[in-house]
Amino acid sequence: MPEAACSCRDYPDIRLSRAEVLGRAKAFKALASRLTLVAANPDREHRLFTCSPCGAFWQGARALHVGTKPYLFRVPSVSPSSWLETRFVDPDEVLVFVAGLDRYLERNQFALAQVACAHTPCAALAIRHSVHCLLHHIEALQASHLLPQLPVGRWFGPYVPLGPDAFIRHLTALQSDLARVTQPGLTPGSTGLATLAG
Ligand SMILES: [Zn+2]
Ligand SMILES: [Zn+2]
Repeated sequence: MPEAACSCRDYPDIRLSRAEVLGRAKAFKALASRLTLVAANPDREHRLFTCSPCGAFWQGARALHVGTKPYLFRVPSVSPSSWLETRFVDPDEVLVFVAGLDRYLERNQFALAQVACAHTPCAALAIRHSVHCLLHHIEALQASHLLPQLPVGRWFGPYVPLGPDAFIRHLTALQSDLARVTQPGLTPGSTGLATLAG
C-alpha cells in the first residue's frame, strides 16, 4: 500500500464542538505541511488540498467564530473547477448555525396564534408575538442577522442531517408539535437540531 507517508486517518470528521474545531486548528501546520494545494478561492479564506499518498481531499477554512484560526477538514473528492464554483460548508459555520438556532428554540416559549402565517404561500398558523409561523419567523430573524444564517456550500458527510432540508423538516415538525400541545413551549433538550447529528 502506498499510504506509508499519510496520516489522514488520524484526523476524523470534526464533531460540532468548539473544542474539536480548536483542536484541528492546533494541528493545522502538521496537516498542511504534507498536503498539496490544488485550488484557492478568491475569497482568500478557502483552499482545496489533496494528500498525494492516499488521494484524499481537504478543505482549508478559517474558524471565524473561534479565533479566526486556519484549520483543515476532509471533504469528498471534487474537481478543482467544481469546487471553485461551490465549496463545501465549513464545520465551524455549521456549529455556529446549529448552536444559535438551538439556543433560540430552548430559550423561547412558543404557542400558536389563531391567524395565518403572513408568508405567502404558507398554510401554517402564525406563532404568538409574530406574524409568521415558526419556520418563517426564524427565516425572518436570519434575514435580519438576528440568528446565524444557513452555512453556504455543499453539505457533506456527517453534516448532511443538519442541512437545509433537515432545517425545514425540523421546524415544520416543531410547528406540528405546537398544534398538539395546550401549554406554550417546546421541551428543551429534545427539540434541538443538534439531536439530528450522527
Ligand atoms: Zn492521506
Ligand atoms: Zn409560514
